[in-house]
Amino acid sequence: MSEAEKKRVFRLGLTGGIGSGKSAVAQVWLSQDPGIALIDADSISRGLTAPGGAAMPEVARLFGASMVAADGGLDREAMRQAVFAEPEVRGQLEALLHPLIGQAIQAQVEDKVRQGAQRLLFDIPLLVEGKARWLTQLDAVVVVDCQPETQIQRVMQRNGLSRQAVESILVAQASRSQRRACADVVLYNDQLSWAELTQQISDLAAHFRL
Ligand code: ATP
Repeated sequence: MSEAEKKRVFRLGLTGGIGSGKSAVAQVWLSQDPGIALIDADSISRGLTAPGGAAMPEVARLFGASMVAADGGLDREAMRQAVFAEPEVRGQLEALLHPLIGQAIQAQVEDKVRQGAQRLLFDIPLLVEGKARWLTQLDAVVVVDCQPETQIQRVMQRNGLSRQAVESILVAQASRSQRRACADVVLYNDQLSWAELTQQISDLAAHFRL
């Protein structure tokens, strides 16, 4: 049995669409609660295909050297074009990455618990898409929700993308109702000041008795 299982560390999942405010919620939560540690699935996933990342030898073997950029990381533009030309490439890449992401997350969980974390906050953008796997691993799920127009405005501003580019990302993601169906609690992060967001997070922590 792992350290995390032995200590029965509470695992809270955090998800939401692009620009809903997951990272903002996670950062406020961490600043409020010194006993909680963050597991960031996106950053773990990016690290696997960064220069020196654990997935890169297999990426090169499976997809060829043309998918490896000069710095040794995944050539994301080449992969984007390969997926566009042959949609099954996406499934092959995911089949390669998912077990490695699972292992890396487990290793981080063990590390954080060993370092004294009493609670874990999992920021998982694709929780709903992978719900069969995630829901069994989490004690509760908070969905960060807001109006699509708010997502569009935030992401246009944050990433300098066009409205059309953000809209095409939104339609490719899980819908709000699919997300809400996985939620124990919905945090509606729209038109909230930082003070109000901070208060909502305190209320949520109390709700979960954290
Ligand atoms: P992604 O899935 O793209 O990583 P995310 O869900 O993590 O997005 P954030 O990066 O936390 O979203 O938020 C998107 C942008 O909106 C950021 O610039 C953030 O500062 C801003 N934002 C989030 N919540 C609020 C809020 N309540 N008031 C003002 N700005 C906010």
